[in-house]
Amino acid sequence: AGLADLVESMLRTVPDFPEPGVQFRDIMPLLADGDAFARVVTALAGHPHGPVDLVAGMEARGFLLAAPVAVALGAGVVPVRKAGKLPGLVASQSYALEYGSASVEIQPSTVPAGARVLVIDDVLATGGTAAATVELLESCGATVVGLSFLVELGALDGRALLPGRDVDVLLTLP
Ligand code: 5GP
Repeated sequence: AGLADLVESMLRTVPDFPEPGVQFRDIMPLLADGDAFARVVTALAGHPHGPVDLVAGMEARGFLLAAPVAVALGAGVVPVRKAGKLPGLVASQSYALEYGSASVEIQPSTVPAGARVLVIDDVLATGGTAAATVELLESCGATVVGLSFLVELGALDGRALLPGRDVDVLLTLP
């Protein structure tokens, strides 16, 4: 079976998490299966974005994917964290949520100007987190060469916030 089928078969859908009305796509069963995890990492690392210096992963499930993809590509890894978690000088980008706002942070000292960065997360939902991450990295002088996700929730049209970007997903759900 293809990779999309594998990913779909290993996702668990949890109703009303973290809030009533949300159908949460849980990727933990996939990560807990060694063969499936390896196939997914190989696929995420195999997309032709050209040379990659850094892989940026979003807190927290993005970390679990970004690190092995970085090793596979011979690249470094940069955690994109929620506000207040990183020590020292941080660069910050806020973005709108349904109610209120949130922000993402990196340590700019770890992102050299001109670095070619691949952005990785588990799920592309509304795209707010990914778009803020792209802005944050590029405000530090990096070039975002592409974004890769395990799963895209098509109905939320997160791609609309990533115009002109090279967006790669292993599975699109309606
Ligand atoms: P967005 O900013 O695109 O709306 O939300 C994306 C962020 O929320 C990602 O970091 C992603 O991990 C998380 N997220 C949103 N919906 C889901 C979901 O159904 N399953 C999982 N695993 N993560 C989700």
